[in-house]
Amino acid sequence: MMQMLVETFTVGMLSTNCYVASCPQTKDAIIIDPGLELPVEAQPIVDYISEAELNMIFIVNTHGHSDHVKGNVYFQQKYKVPLCIHPLDAHFIAEFTTNNYLPNKMLEEGNILSYGQELLKVLHTPGHTPGSICLVGEKLIFSGDTLFAGSIGRTDFPGGSNSDMQLSLQKIVTLPDCLLVYPGHGETTMIGEEKRINPFIRNKGILF
Ligand SMILES: [Zn+2]
Ligand SMILES: [Zn+2]
Repeated sequence: MMQMLVETFTVGMLSTNCYVASCPQTKDAIIIDPGLELPVEAQPIVDYISEAELNMIFIVNTHGHSDHVKGNVYFQQKYKVPLCIHPLDAHFIAEFTTNNYLPNKMLEEGNILSYGQELLKVLHTPGHTPGSICLVGEKLIFSGDTLFAGSIGRTDFPGGSNSDMQLSLQKIVTLPDCLLVYPGHGETTMIGEEKRINPFIRNKGILF
Protein backbone atom coordinates (compact mmCIF):
# COMPACT_ATOMS: atom_id res chain seq x y z
CA MET A 1 0.00 0.00 0.00
CA MET A 2 1.53 3.29 -1.07
CA GLN A 3 1.35 6.22 1.30
CA MET A 4 -0.71 9.35 0.89
CA LEU A 5 1.30 12.06 -0.86
CA VAL A 6 1.38 15.48 0.77
CA GLU A 7 2.75 18.60 -0.92
CA THR A 8 3.14 21.78 1.14
CA PHE A 9 2.69 25.34 -0.18
CA THR A 10 3.37 28.13 2.28
CA VAL A 11 1.13 31.07 1.42
CA GLY A 12 0.12 34.53 2.59
CA MET A 13 1.52 37.06 5.02
CA LEU A 14 1.17 34.67 7.97
CA SER A 15 3.06 31.85 6.20
CA THR A 16 0.09 29.52 6.30
CA ASN A 17 0.62 25.93 5.16
CA CYS A 18 -1.69 24.94 2.32
CA TYR A 19 -1.53 21.20 1.67
CA VAL A 20 -2.40 19.17 -1.39
CA ALA A 21 -2.91 15.58 -0.25
CA SER A 22 -3.38 12.87 -2.85
CA CYS A 23 -3.92 9.14 -3.27
CA PRO A 24 -0.97 7.69 -5.20
CA GLN A 25 -3.13 4.90 -6.68
CA THR A 26 -6.01 6.94 -8.07
CA LYS A 27 -4.53 10.48 -8.09
CA ASP A 28 -7.65 11.75 -6.33
CA ALA A 29 -6.67 14.74 -4.22
CA ILE A 30 -7.83 17.40 -1.79
CA ILE A 31 -6.67 20.92 -0.95
CA ILE A 32 -6.44 21.81 2.73
CA ASP A 33 -6.47 25.49 3.76
CA PRO A 34 -5.89 27.47 0.55
CA GLY A 35 -5.23 30.74 2.38
CA LEU A 36 -3.92 32.71 -0.57
CA GLU A 37 -3.20 36.38 -0.01
CA LEU A 38 -2.69 37.08 -3.71
CA PRO A 39 -4.05 35.23 -6.76
CA VAL A 40 -0.47 34.76 -8.02
CA GLU A 41 0.15 32.41 -5.10
CA ALA A 42 -2.29 29.95 -6.66
CA GLN A 43 -0.04 29.33 -9.65
CA PRO A 44 2.47 26.91 -8.08
CA ILE A 45 -0.45 24.96 -6.58
CA VAL A 46 -2.31 24.81 -9.90
CA ASP A 47 0.91 23.82 -11.70
CA TYR A 48 1.59 21.04 -9.22
CA ILE A 49 -1.96 19.71 -9.55
CA SER A 50 -1.80 19.68 -13.34
CA GLU A 51 1.74 18.26 -13.57
CA ALA A 52 0.89 15.47 -11.12
CA GLU A 53 -2.38 14.94 -13.06
CA LEU A 54 -4.43 15.02 -9.87
CA ASN A 55 -8.23 14.85 -9.79
CA MET A 56 -9.47 17.37 -7.26
CA ILE A 57 -12.22 15.96 -5.06
CA PHE A 58 -12.81 18.65 -2.44
CA ILE A 59 -11.38 21.56 -0.46
CA VAL A 60 -11.22 21.48 3.35
CA ASN A 61 -10.71 24.30 5.83
CA THR A 62 -9.29 23.28 9.22
CA HIS A 63 -11.00 26.43 10.54
CA GLY A 64 -12.42 29.70 9.28
CA HIS A 65 -9.61 32.23 9.80
CA SER A 66 -8.89 34.31 6.73
CA ASP A 67 -5.30 33.12 6.35
CA HIS A 68 -6.68 29.58 5.76
CA VAL A 69 -9.72 30.30 3.60
CA LYS A 70 -9.06 33.31 1.35
CA GLY A 71 -8.31 31.13 -1.69
CA ASN A 72 -11.44 28.98 -1.35
CA VAL A 73 -13.40 30.72 -4.08
CA TYR A 74 -10.49 30.64 -6.51
CA PHE A 75 -10.16 26.85 -6.19
CA GLN A 76 -13.94 26.28 -6.03
CA GLN A 77 -14.27 28.11 -9.35
CA LYS A 78 -11.26 26.42 -10.90
CA TYR A 79 -12.01 22.80 -9.93
CA LYS A 80 -15.79 22.89 -9.26
CA VAL A 81 -15.38 20.89 -6.08
CA PRO A 82 -17.22 21.05 -2.75
CA LEU A 83 -15.89 23.07 0.16
CA CYS A 84 -15.93 21.39 3.57
CA ILE A 85 -15.78 23.09 6.99
CA HIS A 86 -17.11 22.55 10.50
CA PRO A 87 -20.52 24.28 10.91
CA LEU A 88 -19.31 26.35 13.89
CA ASP A 89 -16.73 28.07 11.65
CA ALA A 90 -18.86 28.41 8.51
CA HIS A 91 -19.84 32.00 9.38
CA PHE A 92 -16.19 33.09 9.18
CA ILE A 93 -15.99 32.40 5.48
CA ALA A 94 -19.24 34.10 4.49
CA GLU A 95 -17.42 37.41 4.12
CA PHE A 96 -14.96 35.95 1.61
CA THR A 97 -17.54 34.42 -0.64
CA THR A 98 -20.83 34.85 -2.49
CA ASN A 99 -23.95 32.72 -2.39
CA ASN A 100 -22.57 30.63 -5.23
CA TYR A 101 -19.59 29.54 -3.17
CA LEU A 102 -20.89 28.88 0.30
CA PRO A 103 -19.65 25.71 2.02
CA ASN A 104 -21.28 22.62 0.52
CA LYS A 105 -20.43 20.06 3.15
CA MET A 106 -20.41 20.42 6.91
CA LEU A 107 -17.89 18.30 8.77
CA GLU A 108 -18.69 16.98 12.23
CA GLU A 109 -16.70 14.95 14.76
CA GLY A 110 -16.23 11.39 13.50
CA ASN A 111 -17.07 12.08 9.85
CA ILE A 112 -14.83 10.29 7.39
CA LEU A 113 -13.52 12.09 4.32
CA SER A 114 -12.52 9.72 1.56
CA TYR A 115 -10.74 10.32 -1.72
CA GLY A 116 -9.23 7.53 -3.78
CA GLN A 117 -8.09 4.91 -1.29
CA GLU A 118 -7.35 7.47 1.42
CA LEU A 119 -9.43 8.13 4.51
CA LEU A 120 -9.27 11.07 6.90
CA LYS A 121 -11.30 11.14 10.09
CA VAL A 122 -12.60 14.45 11.42
CA LEU A 123 -11.58 15.26 14.97
CA HIS A 124 -13.43 18.33 16.33
CA THR A 125 -10.82 20.30 18.27
CA PRO A 126 -12.31 23.64 19.39
CA GLY A 127 -10.18 26.15 21.29
CA HIS A 128 -8.41 28.21 18.62
CA THR A 129 -11.85 28.69 17.04
CA PRO A 130 -15.17 26.95 17.90
CA GLY A 131 -15.16 24.96 14.66
CA SER A 132 -11.49 24.00 14.45
CA ILE A 133 -10.91 20.45 13.23
CA CYS A 134 -7.98 18.10 12.78
CA LEU A 135 -7.96 15.49 10.00
CA VAL A 136 -6.52 12.17 11.09
CA GLY A 137 -5.24 9.54 8.66
CA GLU A 138 -3.52 6.21 9.25
CA LYS A 139 -0.04 7.77 9.40
CA LEU A 140 -0.60 11.51 9.67
CA ILE A 141 -2.68 14.33 11.07
CA PHE A 142 -3.45 17.75 9.62
CA SER A 143 -3.66 19.77 12.83
CA GLY A 144 -4.66 23.24 11.58
CA ASP A 145 -3.95 25.93 14.17
CA THR A 146 -4.64 23.57 17.09
CA LEU A 147 -1.18 21.97 17.38
CA PHE A 148 2.14 23.30 16.09
CA ALA A 149 5.67 21.95 16.48
CA GLY A 150 6.50 22.94 20.06
CA SER A 151 3.41 25.09 20.52
CA ILE A 152 -0.35 25.40 20.16
CA GLY A 153 -2.75 27.87 18.55
CA ARG A 154 -3.81 31.06 20.26
CA THR A 155 -7.07 31.02 22.18
CA ASP A 156 -7.45 34.77 22.65
CA PHE A 157 -9.20 35.53 19.36
CA PRO A 158 -13.01 35.94 19.27
CA GLY A 159 -14.56 32.50 19.76
CA GLY A 160 -11.36 31.09 21.21
CA SER A 161 -11.48 29.16 24.47
CA ASN A 162 -8.61 27.94 26.59
CA SER A 163 -10.78 25.37 28.36
CA ASP A 164 -11.96 23.96 25.01
CA MET A 165 -8.34 23.89 23.85
CA GLN A 166 -7.33 21.84 26.89
CA LEU A 167 -10.02 19.25 26.10
CA SER A 168 -8.94 19.19 22.45
CA LEU A 169 -5.32 18.59 23.46
CA GLN A 170 -6.53 15.71 25.63
CA LYS A 171 -7.98 14.16 22.48
CA ILE A 172 -4.73 14.69 20.60
CA VAL A 173 -2.56 12.97 23.23
CA THR A 174 -4.58 9.79 22.75
CA LEU A 175 -3.39 9.56 19.12
CA PRO A 176 -0.52 7.24 18.14
CA ASP A 177 3.01 8.63 18.63
CA CYS A 178 3.97 7.65 15.08
CA LEU A 179 1.58 10.10 13.38
CA LEU A 180 3.31 12.76 11.31
CA VAL A 181 1.81 16.18 12.11
CA TYR A 182 1.17 18.70 9.34
CA PRO A 183 0.32 21.95 11.15
CA GLY A 184 -1.32 25.13 9.88
CA HIS A 185 1.95 27.03 10.32
CA GLY A 186 5.59 25.98 10.66
CA GLU A 187 7.41 22.69 10.36
CA THR A 188 6.04 19.17 10.48
CA THR A 189 6.52 17.15 13.67
CA MET A 190 5.41 13.83 15.20
CA ILE A 191 2.74 13.28 17.86
CA GLY A 192 5.29 11.37 19.98
CA GLU A 193 7.79 14.21 19.74
CA GLU A 194 5.15 16.75 20.82
CA LYS A 195 4.19 14.58 23.80
CA ARG A 196 7.87 14.71 24.85
CA ILE A 197 8.81 18.33 24.18
CA ASN A 198 5.70 20.48 23.72
CA PRO A 199 5.13 22.34 27.02
CA PHE A 200 1.41 22.63 26.27
CA ILE A 201 0.82 18.88 26.03
CA ARG A 202 3.74 17.39 27.92
CA ASN A 203 2.59 15.92 31.23
CA LYS A 204 -0.98 15.78 29.99
CA GLY A 205 -2.30 12.49 31.29
CA ILE A 206 -5.12 10.75 29.52
CA LEU A 207 -8.16 11.73 31.54
CA PHE A 208 -10.83 9.75 29.75
ZN1 LIG B 1 -6.20 30.43 12.89
ZN1 LIG C 1 -3.45 30.27 10.87
